[in-house]
Amino acid sequence: EAKAQGKGRQVAYTDAMDQRSAEQARLAADLRVALDTGQLHLAYQPIVSMPDGSMVAVEALVRWTHPSRGPIPPGVFVPAAEHTGLIVPLGAWILEEACEQAARWRSVPGAPPKVSVNVSARQLREAGFAEEVAAVLRRTGLPAGALTVEVTETAVFDGGQALVELEAIADLGVHIALDDFGTGHSSLGLLRTCPAHVIKIDKSFVDDVTSDGQEAVVVAALIQICDGMGLAAVAEGVETAEQAAELHRLGYRYAQGYYFARPMPAADIAFYEHPIAA
Ligand code: C2E
Ligand code: MG
Ligand code: MG
Ligand code: MG
Repeated sequence: EAKAQGKGRQVAYTDAMDQRSAEQARLAADLRVALDTGQLHLAYQPIVSMPDGSMVAVEALVRWTHPSRGPIPPGVFVPAAEHTGLIVPLGAWILEEACEQAARWRSVPGAPPKVSVNVSARQLREAGFAEEVAAVLRRTGLPAGALTVEVTETAVFDGGQALVELEAIADLGVHIALDDFGTGHSSLGLLRTCPAHVIKIDKSFVDDVTSDGQEAVVVAALIQICDGMGLAAVAEGVETAEQAAELHRLGYRYAQGYYFARPMPAADIAFYEHPIAA
């Protein structure tokens, strides 16, 4: 009987897997239409310097309002796009859109001087990705130094080609940020091999910074490592004044999070005001 139950579980598990890939395939099919019919747009979240909260850059974050299902978060549809390969044309659109916007902002007072764009492992693995980045910069007129490419640890470890492309992107003068830093298997090892300029400390560490437990020690140590290696550190997911104050006390200069500003439409970015009087 136990065996029969085990088999039942196995079947249920396989069904769940099938349902998951069927759902991903459905999403990807809708997403392909979305890409062609303008259902996607980019939101921008300020990256600020502490303690005053002035904007030093923005991160572009893709948004999708599905015609019948409403808003679908990128945490749901980006993995589906990665799974099906649609992330390659989708990512190309995102990069071009963000660079166009950033180029336009260069003549707008109060607008951010730099834009940061998330790039998936799958995009980085394509030979010629760095050339695509160079072409987008040429087309939009955005200086390379005004663009940062955000990659995760898994993306960089995805194979040799990813590192080749990253080196070539860095050679253009584009900055490289390691996103969700500290959540992978070999974060510190990566600092030796990857041409990174910016480290984005994952929200899970930031959440712990005001606890008096051992977790806060990691956040304190990471800023020392970044300073020692000449890397800029951005604390991600800062939600409270207490977290911001503690991060600043530990030596963090840059932060991103709901406490300072939520992701917002491009049109609102130039009206961002520092939440804190300097
Ligand atoms: P990420 O690159 O680490 O982006 C930061 C995420 O944290 C964003 O979620 C942002 O809205 C959220 N966030 C910022 N501040 C706070 C805070 O104080 N509290 C909380 N709880 N969350 C905060 P979002 O926009 O839902 O994106 C989730 C993930 O989806 C991104 O994580 C990134 O991995 C992926 N993603 C988003 N846009 C793109 C894109 O254009 N291309 C690719 N390849 N991936 C993207
Ligand atoms: Mg990011
Ligand atoms: Mg992140
Ligand atoms: Mg993330």
